[in-house]
Amino acid sequence: MLLTVESLSIAFGGLDAVQNVSLSVEERERVAIIGPNGAGKSTLFNLISGALRPNSGRVLFDGQDISRLDAHQRVKRGLARSFQRSSIFPKLTAYENVLAAVMVQRGRGFDLFGVARTDPAADDALASVGLSDQAGRVAGTLALGDQKRLELALVLAVKPRLMLLDEPTAGMSPEETAATVALVERLAAERGIALLFTEHDMGVVFGVAQRVLVLSQGALVAEGSPDSIRANPDVQRLYLGEPGSLRF
Ligand code: ADP
Ligand code: MG
Repeated sequence: MLLTVESLSIAFGGLDAVQNVSLSVEERERVAIIGPNGAGKSTLFNLISGALRPNSGRVLFDGQDISRLDAHQRVKRGLARSFQRSSIFPKLTAYENVLAAVMVQRGRGFDLFGVARTDPAADDALASVGLSDQAGRVAGTLALGDQKRLELALVLAVKPRLMLLDEPTAGMSPEETAATVALVERLAAERGIALLFTEHDMGVVFGVAQRVLVLSQGALVAEGSPDSIRANPDVQRLYLGEPGSLRF
């Protein structure tokens, strides 16, 4: 098993944001986590990536307990994430952003100016998302779709074995969504990368995921194939009152 999450829990004040969640992801598998706003999806990703420490539970990667490793040590092992909110440095160029990610993966921190200013891994990551021609552009001035592609390049630059993608198509038009999803699927397949992702667009979820987990109020309440989740009345009920969130 590539990723195993055992009974993770965290509370913020009196709120159980993630409650006793266990899950696993196999090598090359594509797994979606869905659930209404506030269900705890981003918090769960923060626990898996090491951005947050759980109150209890463990995270295993490739059979090893990584619960005590910080986020960038997890990245070095091949566990990379994107954020629901942008993680790019808006004042650096697209190339410098990717170079910074490469250096984190190599354990060099963010010392952008102390080492070589180019790196084949950075070129490769930009090329893989079709942004080579934007390399010199200041990231904050890129079109939104290109900023999203750049975020994907940052994840790819660390040579992940598992990508955690938190709403990778948030804010995109249907056309941008389709293009981004196709790109993620192609790159994951070509590079043998497993995906664990959250997404509000059910077209994306059911098109990409081999397995779907449903989170509600911090707890996993359903798990199954896309077809079984789509047909599950409890899941449909969860989304009542969130018009537009569940687009089948
Ligand atoms: P989702 O990503 O599924 O929309 P989140 O993980 O962002 O949900 O949030 C889960 C719950 O935890 C929400 O009620 C949210 O307000 C709360 N929460 C998230 N992060 C924090 C935090 N750092 N401090 C306090 N409450 C938080
Ligand atoms: Mg979220």
